[in-house]
Amino acid sequence: MTESVRLKIKQIKTIGFEEIKESKWFRKGQEGKFFLKLSIEEYKTTWQDEDEDEPHERGIHQILIDLVYKEGEKKGQVDVLYEPLVASNPIGKEFIIQDLNWDKVLLEESWWIGEKNDVLIIPRDSYHNLIFNQGDEPLLETNSIKKKWDFPKEEEVNNANKEKYNEIVKNYREKMDNDPVLKQYTFYYENLTSNSSYYEINDEHKLNDYFNSEVEEIAKQKPITPATLKDDDDDDLVSRRKEELKKYIKQYGEIIIAKRKVIKKLNQHFYKWRAEGGLTDREHNNEVNECEKLWKEDPNELRFNELINNFEKDEKFVNIKKNFEDESAQEKDVGIRADIKISEIISELSLLIIKEDEIPRYDEDVRETKRKKKNDFKKLKERKEKIFNLKKNIIDKYSQIKEQKERCWHCNKEYYYTLTNIWNKRNFCSVECVNLGKAKLKEAKIESIKNIKKALRENFLTNSNDFKLDPAYQSWEEKIEKCNDTTSLSFFELNLLTDIREKIAVLETNLLKTSLENNEKLRGTKSFNSSIENSINSSIKQIFLKDPQGLKETFLKVIKNKMAESRVTEEDLANKEIKAFKEIKTSKKNISESRLKNIKELLIKSIDNMRINRLMSNLKTETNSSLKYDDKKKKEALRKKLQLLLERDDTILIKEQGVKIRNLLDKVENDLSRENDSSSLFRNLPWGKISLATLIIGGIITIAIVATRKRRELVISLDDSDSQNLKN
Ligand SMILES: [Zn+2]
Repeated sequence: MTESVRLKIKQIKTIGFEEIKESKWFRKGQEGKFFLKLSIEEYKTTWQDEDEDEPHERGIHQILIDLVYKEGEKKGQVDVLYEPLVASNPIGKEFIIQDLNWDKVLLEESWWIGEKNDVLIIPRDSYHNLIFNQGDEPLLETNSIKKKWDFPKEEEVNNANKEKYNEIVKNYREKMDNDPVLKQYTFYYENLTSNSSYYEINDEHKLNDYFNSEVEEIAKQKPITPATLKDDDDDDLVSRRKEELKKYIKQYGEIIIAKRKVIKKLNQHFYKWRAEGGLTDREHNNEVNECEKLWKEDPNELRFNELINNFEKDEKFVNIKKNFEDESAQEKDVGIRADIKISEIISELSLLIIKEDEIPRYDEDVRETKRKKKNDFKKLKERKEKIFNLKKNIIDKYSQIKEQKERCWHCNKEYYYTLTNIWNKRNFCSVECVNLGKAKLKEAKIESIKNIKKALRENFLTNSNDFKLDPAYQSWEEKIEKCNDTTSLSFFELNLLTDIREKIAVLETNLLKTSLENNEKLRGTKSFNSSIENSINSSIKQIFLKDPQGLKETFLKVIKNKMAESRVTEEDLANKEIKAFKEIKTSKKNISESRLKNIKELLIKSIDNMRINRLMSNLKTETNSSLKYDDKKKKEALRKKLQLLLERDDTILIKEQGVKIRNLLDKVENDLSRENDSSSLFRNLPWGKISLATLIIGGIITIAIVATRKRRELVISLDDSDSQNLKN
């Protein structure tokens, strides 16, 4: 695990700091191991010992940073920031340990100057760098540099008495001790003249040499500390001291100005280094990886390829394609062509990665390769940028040349065809419109599903078992989800809604047909009335409107029902009726509603007539034959039959033949009454069914003719069909 750790320094203790400061080791980079003990304001880590089940949190208050390579390993590897840590005043400041490799960090219980502490030991080869002030700024104390210079003027020194003079000297010395410019200069000087170097910065040349080659002599000087005056100093010495002081003050100012120039220049250098993308090893690797990811999806590359593919496919652009290719192959910049594939550059990236085990290493060879990789990466990025721009220019140019205007599928605006922003084979003017288009589709899907559910809910017939959608529309919700543009979606929705409506209409028509059929069955019964007639007529109209063939079929069914019920066959029909029957039965042509109705009425009427006529003729025959013979049992059966006929729910029969049937009944009854005594006659009469008037008249007639009549046998001559009818 590697990362940067930000720490805030609370206190610094070093082992024998004073001795080290004085030693030659400090300046010359002696071999050896040196620990800097930093007391850290806040720092926490978790720690798990081998015999523990779970890690526990452990506050660390001190960190040891191993600032040099281990004893004897390498000479002169003092970390550049050792000096700022001890030389300037870093208490309360933040610093960052860059690219820390935690695997190499040790947590130890340590006795340190008589105290027992939990201590993190961070070896030099476990991190890349130590950086103050957020890490992305150079080591600056810019605010304090601007403190104003407030030494007295010449006049003031001239007029000063001894006491005043000594006060000025005291202020001078204090100023010197605390002067931020002097401190900052020392800070830089000590950093850059140490044997190690800030190698990321001195990329092109060694910044370390700056102090030897460029810095003015005066900037290297230190202000001279003036002497104080004693009470017994004579006037000569006093005026000499005053002259010195004036000279020193003047020199101080000159030195400060010169040092400021150095500081300013170095600040600029550090800023520039960062601004130019000066990177630590870790930052470098991260950026290389990031570039690999980004470049793979380079939009100009994609557009470029799309454009040339488009030219290839479309005949319109054959000529343009040649120009496009020629221009892309031209080396517009030194060595750069627009048609260079970004993938070729990406393959170079992997060579520029600094290996993990090289990151914390500082030997000269490793440093050289790192420097080279960082430089190459910079150049590669520049190259990529140039190719990118070339591609972009060419794309823009050729997109314009075509002058092909497209209409945005979403906002309907006209725009130059750019080969981008295509989704679902639709063209959009912008990415926003693509997204809006997608959102629109999503909304449209929700709306479609809503509409369809509504259509299904609205009609009760959709719940019936007979309601079945076309296979194309079954699992319709799933199919809608799969739709990827609104046109096909609305097409699907429309067709599905039509299917639902058609299926409902069919079921509705079927209901009407059944109702028509049932109502027709009531025709000729007592329950048939004008409202049923109206319902029949309205059904006919509606069925004909939706399904003229269906109406024909329903009428055919009604007629066939009637025929079966009336025991009438096709052969029984007269010519006119046969023709009508054949027309409704076999004609493939559409028959008008009124013609269908006429046919139905004609046939029903004639079937009824046929049935009634046949019945009447049978009854007459039977009655006549019955009266001829003296068979009381048969006569009574006939009487019963006639009575039942009169009771039948057959309004057509009763209306047309009621009187005749009654007459027949009267005849049979008269005949029977002659044979019976009055009591038996009365006993056998169906009291409930015969009116009093009929009885009285019947009785009188019976009495009048009873004596003159001979006994006759009654013969039942009704055939089976009529007996059947009677029972119904
Ligand atoms: Zn648009």
